[in-house]
Amino acid sequence: MMGAVIKFFLPLLLLMANLQATQKQVVILLGPPGAGKGSQATLVKEKMKIPHISTGDLLRENIKNGTALGKSAKSIIDEGNLVPDELIFDMLFARIEKPDCKKGYILDGFPRNLQQAETLQKRLSNTPIIAINLDVPDALIVERITKRQICKSCQTPYHLVYSPPQKEGKCDRCEGELYHRSDDTEEVVENRLKVYHDQTAPLIGYYEKQKTLHNIDSNKSKEAVLLEILALL
Ligand SMILES: [Zn+2]
Repeated sequence: MMGAVIKFFLPLLLLMANLQATQKQVVILLGPPGAGKGSQATLVKEKMKIPHISTGDLLRENIKNGTALGKSAKSIIDEGNLVPDELIFDMLFARIEKPDCKKGYILDGFPRNLQQAETLQKRLSNTPIIAINLDVPDALIVERITKRQICKSCQTPYHLVYSPPQKEGKCDRCEGELYHRSDDTEEVVENRLKVYHDQTAPLIGYYEKQKTLHNIDSNKSKEAVLLEILALL
């Protein structure tokens, strides 16, 4: 029943979303590791035609392409230090000046803490932020991550219970080989959840105060979560 409703309303909502997406907006996806931020970011990117920006990827690209910012970052990393926020912000703002960000963009995994959120708000000044919290209880996160498989070629995530591939061990999209990440163990996941609750979860309160927070119960199908996200944009 739900599936039929989704199939019927999705095209309609997508059309509305496309019509509305004239105002630039920054979409921030929040939620614990394994809540589905990466999958949803990919889907929203495809539907809304706005880029998905990951600061981790940005850092790797800048280093690979040998940009001035990338060179500074590399020398800091080579000395065994963490790349300072300022440098990450410079990379981010260099990226969002590009024409493909004109309608907006999705940030996934950033900001990671309150200080970054405050700096981001200041530097964005008037661009509206929509913070979307993908809410999933910790116990379910552990179950999700420990049974997760990822495509070696296109990085599409699968779950052995909730979203299994059509052919065992093969990616539905590109036929690539699926693998289980070696750090997707219960112990590592619990540690990542602890870091999340200490550092990133306070962002939920922060965006709540700014009246830009939307909570979505992410303990349902990818399609159902996507529908709720698109309805907000
Ligand atoms: Zn694939």
